[in-house]
Amino acid sequence: QTEENLLEVNNIEVIYNHVILVLKGVSLSVPKGGITALLGGNGAGKTTTLKAISNLLKSERGEVTKGNIRYRGERVQDLVPSDLVKKGVIQVMEGRHCFEHLTVEENLLTGAYTRGSSRGEIEKDLDLVYTYFPRLKERRRSQAGYTSGGEQQMVAIGRALMSRPETILLDEPSMGLAPQLVEQIFGIVKSLNEDQGYTFLLAEQNTNVALRFAHYGYILENGRVVMDGPAKELRENPDVKEFYLGMS
Ligand code: ATP
Repeated sequence: QTEENLLEVNNIEVIYNHVILVLKGVSLSVPKGGITALLGGNGAGKTTTLKAISNLLKSERGEVTKGNIRYRGERVQDLVPSDLVKKGVIQVMEGRHCFEHLTVEENLLTGAYTRGSSRGEIEKDLDLVYTYFPRLKERRRSQAGYTSGGEQQMVAIGRALMSRPETILLDEPSMGLAPQLVEQIFGIVKSLNEDQGYTFLLAEQNTNVALRFAHYGYILENGRVVMDGPAKELRENPDVKEFYLGMS
C-alpha cells in the first residue's frame, strides 16, 4: 500500500521559555485522506505538537529547537500561520474561540478572509458548512456567545472549512461536551473525511471515541510517542485497554 504523507513531523523538540523541554523528539506522519489521532493524558504534549505544526508557539514563548516539520515535502516551520493556511493547513484551537459578539454566520465568514474569493464561491462554501452542520444554519443569525458549547465547536470547525483547507488540525474536539454531542461531532468529522476528502490530525484525551473514528493513532506520554499503530490494533492492545480505554 502506498500512502502519500501530507505532513511529516520528524523528531521535534519543543522548549518553552528557553528552559522547559516539553516535546522530547516527536515524530509522526499524516497520510492524505486519513484521520490520525494524537492521544495521551493531560499535559502529554498534544496541544504543543499541534501548535508546533501550525507555528503558533511563539506567542507562548515556545520554540521548536530540534527536528523538522514538512508539508508536502516542504519545510514549513518558518512560515507564519497565515502562510500555512494558504498551503491548506488550518488549526481549530482547543476551547473553540468564537467571536462572541458576532453572529454564527459572521464567525463562519471570518474563516474565508485569507482566500480573497468571490462572494459566489464563499456562498457555496457556506452552503457546504450548513449541509454538514444544519444546526448552524438554524442558528446563523444568533450571536455566537449565546450558542451552546457544542454549537461553538461546530462554528470553530465550520470556520476552518471556510478557508478551503486540505488538512485540519483539531485540538480536543470533545472537550466539555456531553457524550451524545461528542458522537455527533466525530460523526460529522468522519463524513467530512469520507465524502470531501479532508485530512485530519486530531488531538484527543478521549481515547475511546478517537480510536473508533480515527484510522491511525499515536500515543504521547511526557513529550514522547510511546506507541503508534492502526486504530483497530490500538483498540485491541492490552496496554491501551488498561491505561487508556478504561479512563474514558
Ligand atoms: P492538555 O490536554 O492539557 O492540553 P496536552 O497533551 O495538550 O494536554 P500540552 O498543552 O501540550 O499538553 O502541555 C504539555 C506540557 O507543556 C505541560 O506540562 C504544560 O504544563 C507545558 N506547557 C504548555 N504550555 C506551556 C507554556 N506556554 N509555557 C510553559 N509550559 C507550557
